[in-house]
Amino acid sequence: MRDTFLPFSRPSITEDDIAAVGEVLRSGWITTGPRTAEFELRFSERVGCAGAVALCSGTAGMHLVLNALGIGPGDEVITPSMTWVSTVNLVVLAGATPVFVDVDRDTLMVTAASIEPRITPRTRLIVPVHFGGAPVDLDPICELAAARGIAVVEDAAHATGTRYKGRPIGQRGTAIFSFHPIKNITTGEGGMVCSDDEALLERIRRLKFHGLGVEAFDRQTHGRAPQAEVLEPGYKYNLTDMAAVLGIRQLERLEALNRRRTVLADRYRSRLADVEAVLPLGTPGYDHDHAWHLFVVRLDTERAGMDRDRFMRRLKEHNIGTGLHFRAVHLQRYYLESAGTRRGMLPDTEWNSDCVCSLPLFPDMSVDDVDEVVNAIEDVLGS
Ligand SMILES: *Cc1c(COP(=O)(O)O)cnc(C)c1O
Repeated sequence: MRDTFLPFSRPSITEDDIAAVGEVLRSGWITTGPRTAEFELRFSERVGCAGAVALCSGTAGMHLVLNALGIGPGDEVITPSMTWVSTVNLVVLAGATPVFVDVDRDTLMVTAASIEPRITPRTRLIVPVHFGGAPVDLDPICELAAARGIAVVEDAAHATGTRYKGRPIGQRGTAIFSFHPIKNITTGEGGMVCSDDEALLERIRRLKFHGLGVEAFDRQTHGRAPQAEVLEPGYKYNLTDMAAVLGIRQLERLEALNRRRTVLADRYRSRLADVEAVLPLGTPGYDHDHAWHLFVVRLDTERAGMDRDRFMRRLKEHNIGTGLHFRAVHLQRYYLESAGTRRGMLPDTEWNSDCVCSLPLFPDMSVDDVDEVVNAIEDVLGS
């Protein structure tokens, strides 16, 4: 057994990253400024999108997009329940109604076929989620939405570096990325909205900083013009330069970080092929580059003779950390008690919700670490 604990995720931070943050701290300008502008520019160049706005989280990005699209009471937003709670919470907080669609049992992603029957005259927005580093099958979803005049906003929190049919996620349409510490690149906390809709980006730039008609940082005044006034009530969702410089440095290493994730994921896949009670996610059949944000497996609880929670506890006793992506949103207490959801409405989501488990996967892990995880799994299942 390992003598040190292996967490399920750990950010990759180099001495150069730390020095770059130190430089910002010493510069006299630590909040939104030149480093944030540079991060937005570099990120949009990499993704190939028309423009990008950096924010303090992915959730902040989703909040501002919902706001900018005017989503509110009477509106329906189509989303998987197999997602992080943030999007669904925001839909409810906006007074709109989340409409859940089931996911593919093996990729955990929605399809145009699962979405279509849930469209009503009230549907305003579809939020597909790129899951675990794989891209959702976007083309049919975008065609369906365009034909009905419905907006699409991609949850790309898991998809920094993911490509779909040769195109980076975020290049077209509107996509929201996250830089939370477990994501493929991190700024501590942070997010980015990429869009080819210039008017939407302008609105988000305004809403992210009190609704003032200016950025927090103005090159002329080397600060914020004190005369700036409120054009509409806004929020306080800007990213700091301390965080942005970390994003710039991480972005430079993105390809290498994701290559490393791929090596580790390949090792898991070959080792786990012999472990019958543990079933990795399927990868999509269409052309894509996987960012391997997560390595999610499903426990065959009958074969294993234990439930998922016990499996996770037993791995922890072997010094192996695990994650849970995700517990279905519609089965969480508020939604069951107050939003009229119930068990049975989304069979493939629910089956996965009960047996998914994310194994350790981060760039600073070694192939030996992967082997130790699989050995521990074999141990736990054998006993
Ligand atoms: C992490 C995550 C988010 C939210 O991102 P934050 O930056 O933590 O606000 C949204 N959706 C999914 C699927 C995520 O995993």
